[in-house]
Amino acid sequence: MSYICAKCKRTLTIEQLQASFMSPRARCVYCQSKILFKARPPVVRRVKAV
Ligand SMILES: [Zn+2]
Repeated sequence: MSYICAKCKRTLTIEQLQASFMSPRARCVYCQSKILFKARPPVVRRVKAV
């Protein structure tokens, strides 16, 4: 799983966050923003029209 910074839109891995801060209160390693979103893998919904 990875995170996306709300400010600089960079993708952060959990390893990056933990290595930098060693705390559950993660921050962006690039811009120090505390607002991070969980990055979800894009889900493609295929609806079959019958
Ligand atoms: Zn950032």
